[in-house]
Amino acid sequence: MKTIGLIGGMSWESTTVYYQLLNRMAREQLGGLHSARLLLWSFDFAEIEAMQAKGDWDGATKAMTDAARALERGGAECIVICTNTMHKMADAVQQAVKIPLIHIADATATAIKASGSVRPLLLATRYTMEQDFYKGHLRDKHGIETMVPDEAGRTLVHDIIYNELCQGIIKPGSKQAYLEVVRQAQAEGADGVIFGCTEVGLLISQADFDLPAFDTTALHAKAALDFAL
Ligand code: GLU
Repeated sequence: MKTIGLIGGMSWESTTVYYQLLNRMAREQLGGLHSARLLLWSFDFAEIEAMQAKGDWDGATKAMTDAARALERGGAECIVICTNTMHKMADAVQQAVKIPLIHIADATATAIKASGSVRPLLLATRYTMEQDFYKGHLRDKHGIETMVPDEAGRTLVHDIIYNELCQGIIKPGSKQAYLEVVRQAQAEGADGVIFGCTEVGLLISQADFDLPAFDTTALHAKAALDFAL
């Protein structure tokens, strides 16, 4: 089994989910006392969020590439960035190390294509919904056109991620608000829902609606374990 290097803590609420899923899947596949071989670099998310909010993407890229190099020196055999947003610097991270980066959007694209969805709604941070690094990756590498909520919907989705989910706060009212965004998008033609932030699965799940859900945390963890085994 290969050693997976996780860049996490963004937030740790979802890194915990990665940790559980990777270990659970390793046990399911290998049996007995088996668990995943992992190295975790866990950031203080307040420092990362401050750089995001300021638009200090150079500083954030340096923090990410330093973390990737440290994991490689420590013996990691692949890099997994446990957040969609910080895939903004995925190319720089890949260039900083010799081991492969398992890209979250590639894992997600495989599931979207298998489902037949051609116009999935992207629920994510404002950075991921509005900038091109993620939507562009899905479009240019995989031919998948995504839909994003309108301005009010994007603000709602983004604010709930930072003010609640990343702080471990789960509110029924916020769940209803997310489901209303999904309903509106479905009425406008969305045929799938990408949980394009690794905390979204803490609030809503496939059981909440009948469109296919693409939970990036689960899909990414599965791709990482497949690589490791
Ligand atoms: N975990 C989130 C994501 O998947 C948001 C936090 C962050 O900015 O990294 O995008």
